[in-house]
Amino acid sequence: MGTGTLTIDLDAIAANWQSLNSLSADTVETGAVVKADGYGLGAARVARALAKAGARSFFVAIPEEGAAIREALGRDAEIYVFGGHMAGDTDMIHDLDLVPLLNSIDQLTRHFESLPGAPFGIQLDTGMNRLGLEPAEWEAVATLALSQSPRLLMSHLASADDTESPQNDAQLRRFHEMTDGTDRPRSLSATGGTLLGPDYHFDLTRPGIGLYGGLPFAEARPVAHVSLPVIQTREVAAGESVGYNATWTASEPRIIATVAAGYADGLLRALSGKAMLYCEGTPCPIVGRVSMDLITVDITGLPEVPPALDILCSEQGVDTLAEAAGTIGYEILTSLGARYQRKAIGGFA
Ligand SMILES: *Cc1c(COP(=O)(O)O)cnc(C)c1O
Repeated sequence: MGTGTLTIDLDAIAANWQSLNSLSADTVETGAVVKADGYGLGAARVARALAKAGARSFFVAIPEEGAAIREALGRDAEIYVFGGHMAGDTDMIHDLDLVPLLNSIDQLTRHFESLPGAPFGIQLDTGMNRLGLEPAEWEAVATLALSQSPRLLMSHLASADDTESPQNDAQLRRFHEMTDGTDRPRSLSATGGTLLGPDYHFDLTRPGIGLYGGLPFAEARPVAHVSLPVIQTREVAAGESVGYNATWTASEPRIIATVAAGYADGLLRALSGKAMLYCEGTPCPIVGRVSMDLITVDITGLPEVPPALDILCSEQGVDTLAEAAGTIGYEILTSLGARYQRKAIGGFA
């Protein structure tokens, strides 16, 4: 096998959804965010596993992503679009029966004019300043918009992964001010907000990263496992360097394995000299530069040359790898790329 293997544990995804679901009251629905191809793990299979676990409401970033979810799940699933209703999206929203989360007065106008009577939700800006109607805009259009019975009123927390941030409470209060008394279903929380407790749950939670095994859901079961085949090994003598720009030099004789994956596979160049590959629990450091298709690893400590080494595994999860690269687990997962042989385990129950 000349490429890495990415194994996706669908049972772990289902278990993570159930754990997050159990954090909120029975009256609170737990949705599932499956944007960016299910955080890089394959939207269709991920969505099917989540639907089997009990999820009914799915969230994508753009209507194109809704197509794969609709195809995988059929007519019953509710599919919300964070990007709302952009010019050119009308046919797709209509044909796929998507629910755009309208985020501006322009979008409200476009939606009501082009698809009168079609479902929609509304995105409110409670302080993140990224998407959504600001309080003054909402005040101006709330009566009209509410008369059309939006399926959902939602907002997004900017700092929910930091339980100490005063921004959480400030956004919560603003969300109450903007939506109390509207009598419409409400949603404020992604994974982080779900963990902040019942005040943040409202009618529907929208976890993403926690389903896929990432922080801030520390109790999540890991979902992605990546194993990379060894293509070649060599002995390097003291004083010899390895890789582009000779950034690493052996101080004594070492055995170097070259494995078949690199930054084109989402194994970021910033991991050079920072992360490990693992052989049944034994760490082997990356030496020299991570290149586009190859990584060089010091396997001197192993009793024999293994057929493959793991880079995402129980010893080194997505957040550990992310930390080594100076990023977050979200970016590791969504960068993994198209070159792996992908295998799903579980998900048949
Ligand atoms: C991506 C996203 C989510 C999911 O966030 P996680 O941190 O992955 O749980 C929820 N809501 C909105 C608006 C998002 O953009």
